[in-house]
Amino acid sequence: MHRSDFPILAREVYGKPLVYLDNAATTQKPRAVVDAIAAEYYNTNANVHRGVHFLSQQATELHEAARERVRRFIHAAETAEIVFTRGTTESLNLVAYSYGEAFLKSGDEVILSVMEHHSNIVPWQMLRERKGIVLRVIPMDDDGNLDLEAYERLFSPRTRLVCVAHVSNVLGTVNPIARLCAIAHSHGAHFLADGAQSVPHFAVDVQALGVDFLTFSGHKMYGPTGIGVLYGRRELLEKMPPYQGGGEMIKRVSFEKTTYEDLPYKFEAGTPDYVGSNALAAAIDYIEGIRRDVISAHERELLHYATEQMLQIPGLHIYGRAAEKDAVISFNIEGIHHLDLGTLLDRLGIAIRTGHHCAQPLMDRCGTEGMARASFALYNTREEVDTFVEALQRVRRMF
Ligand code: PMP
Repeated sequence: MHRSDFPILAREVYGKPLVYLDNAATTQKPRAVVDAIAAEYYNTNANVHRGVHFLSQQATELHEAARERVRRFIHAAETAEIVFTRGTTESLNLVAYSYGEAFLKSGDEVILSVMEHHSNIVPWQMLRERKGIVLRVIPMDDDGNLDLEAYERLFSPRTRLVCVAHVSNVLGTVNPIARLCAIAHSHGAHFLADGAQSVPHFAVDVQALGVDFLTFSGHKMYGPTGIGVLYGRRELLEKMPPYQGGGEMIKRVSFEKTTYEDLPYKFEAGTPDYVGSNALAAAIDYIEGIRRDVISAHERELLHYATEQMLQIPGLHIYGRAAEKDAVISFNIEGIHHLDLGTLLDRLGIAIRTGHHCAQPLMDRCGTEGMARASFALYNTREEVDTFVEALQRVRRMF
């Protein structure tokens, strides 16, 4: 589907056609996105927000139009709730720091899940070091479903916030965010969804889900590296202090006292990645041009097809068998180290990811050091799945 939009997919690796199955790490970029970057540098480049001159105003308009594009894409109530960041990791650090300053005291509790990416664990541990907060962890069953009864039992009068991945980057589990969020709210706690692996794959509506925060990265959704988003409900963002200080985020500075800009600029110190924001808008246009339900159906079809084929391979174990699962398959083959598997597949032109996938607590839960992972995007095909599965069989025969 739409492969010719992605020039890189035509290249060869070691003389073999590239089969790119590392999309959960980052996706390839369509021409529309790369062209948007080039066009802005060639035609419109100027620093935003500060200039009276024509180019600066045009660049500012593109940047703010991109914010509106993002708002519509995730159905936020207003653009003041869309903060541009470097990506999911920075968005999560921003919330941990700033929400932590505004709302958390020693002994307050934050709930995470066992399947979180390190980006949604380490900032909270850093806050624990600074403030003495307590972290609680939602367990899961062997299929990779969060244990909702155990989740309910984790709440106490000190629970302030719950932070859970919408889709696990390892297991592919699509967590029941609306339900988890409603439970958190019924206990008077706020809710953050890490959308790094959901926003690229299916429609995510922050108001329908009811979340207080949502984080995601441009580079995992056909957009550029270095730009991402924090969605936060205005009421909370208003109460949260700035995360970094500098230009763009101030109203008035004197050596005695500085006042801060309104939302969302309060959280955007320094020259923003205005070329990145505009290219992210191009990526969103691209995705919506194809339609998210079409992309999602295609990827789910590949997921089921690949899963069926892979399960024919003796000794192959797939981690994550949740009924609601997105386009990620993590696995190991008995007797073959995942790193050897990845290296041998690479020689056949097939790019997969191996290792702990930035989720070491989850690796511990699954009783393994690491896994191999194939992950799909809109441009992958059944023929690529066939090539991949044949390669797995070939590697298995070698061992
Ligand atoms: N959360 C999840 C679920 C992820 O998959 C990733 C990226 N692997 C991240 C957070 C971090 O995203 P980034 O590296 O773009 O900041």
